[in-house]
Amino acid sequence: MSRPRVVVVGGGVIGICCAYYLAKRGAEIVVLDRDAIGHGASYGNAGVIAAGHPPMNKPDRVKHALTQVFDPTTPLYIAPRFDPALAAWLWRFSANCTTRKLEANMGVLGPMGHSTLELFNALVADEDLDCGYAASGYFEVCRTEFGAEHARRDVALMRSHGFDAEALSGEEIVRRVPSVKDGMTGGAYFREAATCDPHRFVTALAERIERGGGRLEAGQAVTRVTGGPQPAVSTARGDRFEADAIVLSTGAYSLHLARDLGCRLPIQPGKGYHRDLTDTGEARPRLEAACVLSETSVFCTPMSGRLRLAGTMEFSGLNHRMRPSRLAQLTTAAGRYLHGIDADRTNSEWCGLRPCTSDGLPVVGRLPGQAKVFAATGHAMAGLTLGPATGALIADLVAGAAPAVDASPLSPGRF
Ligand SMILES: Cc1cc2nc3c(=O)[nH]c(=O)nc-3n(C[C@H](O)[C@H](O)[C@H](O)COP(=O)(O)OP(=O)(O)OC[C@H]3O[C@@H](n4cnc5c(N)ncnc54)[C@H](O)[C@@H]3O)c2cc1C
Repeated sequence: MSRPRVVVVGGGVIGICCAYYLAKRGAEIVVLDRDAIGHGASYGNAGVIAAGHPPMNKPDRVKHALTQVFDPTTPLYIAPRFDPALAAWLWRFSANCTTRKLEANMGVLGPMGHSTLELFNALVADEDLDCGYAASGYFEVCRTEFGAEHARRDVALMRSHGFDAEALSGEEIVRRVPSVKDGMTGGAYFREAATCDPHRFVTALAERIERGGGRLEAGQAVTRVTGGPQPAVSTARGDRFEADAIVLSTGAYSLHLARDLGCRLPIQPGKGYHRDLTDTGEARPRLEAACVLSETSVFCTPMSGRLRLAGTMEFSGLNHRMRPSRLAQLTTAAGRYLHGIDADRTNSEWCGLRPCTSDGLPVVGRLPGQAKVFAATGHAMAGLTLGPATGALIADLVAGAAPAVDASPLSPGRF
């Protein structure tokens, strides 16, 4: 029997992980990306594999957001403009910020998180991926009692779902992370987490797919997807690719292609930024482990000879315009928690769009009414983390095999 041909649209971490596990199952792979492989949100993220971490939808989220949205120094920014789709999304998002929904989401993200950690460890070892992978956990650092209480709640929630998380006092966090300044109120340590350079991870894995006979085409913008028994995609260059199955993994840009097949996905682009600081070796004490600065949601990750500061959540539409004040917020925030932060050492500034669903879960599964077209998107703040689990899940679903985790809550038809 000939190998099934699968066309994966979008070569970010999600598309590449799907392609990898599909190839492992024997599929003939074509990955199409309108840009270079791995140059979307997957390029410059914080590089933290934060398995088991709760999603954005939390009971206190809306109240907290209201205190942040008008303050330019906080991580959240909503550009003032008329945008009915965003208004509807925010409404649905807030309706999903309940204790019950959080528990239900953790019931899905917990098993996916356990599965992804195993897959990451196996993947990096089996494929000998050179991506700076370090399974050394990460810390949360809090400056306020509100932040410390929040961290304690996350720790309790994650522990109840089988993750090794530890609440720390202010003194402990300063002792264990010497580059943290004095005067912190508390924190946490997430032992099972790992870090890597996300772009190196995606390109290394993409290279393995090509080496195994997969075809990766950059500069191929898919303009149309046709469903039905013999699905196909057409590209702006005028090429047409027929397939036995199609996977749409176009991140924050997933709405149009899915909508053409009658599926409306409530996904909003949540813009985040990074500022990388060169490690001159002079900053002492040097940050050795990744940490998230609780109140500001800035991640600080030592990565490939740099310190990456990444964060902010900006809802300003589908564009890559960078706001200098948002970039400045990263270094200003980090300087309040850590020694040795110097904006003059900046060597890279970037923004990317997180594909954020209104209910806090990714979208993984068959499009409604389509036997052979699948979506894998909506991973918001956890696309790197959930990449391997999503890829393995898609490979199971495409092959018609029983998935390792229950995929029904992730179905694109749930909205
Ligand atoms: C600042 C920041 C920090 C983050 N930190 C972390 C972190 O520490 N850990 C974590 O797990 N996650 C993190 N994330 C989230 C993570 O980066 C995303 O969830 C993830 O990258 C989404 O991957 P993706 O493959 O769905 O999308 P993308 O990486 O955006 O890939 C989508 C691809 O589809 C292509 N495409 C779009 N439309 C078309 C089309 N019509 N035809 C062909 N190709 C198309 C694009 O060119 C792109 O390459 C962070 C995000 C940001 C912005």
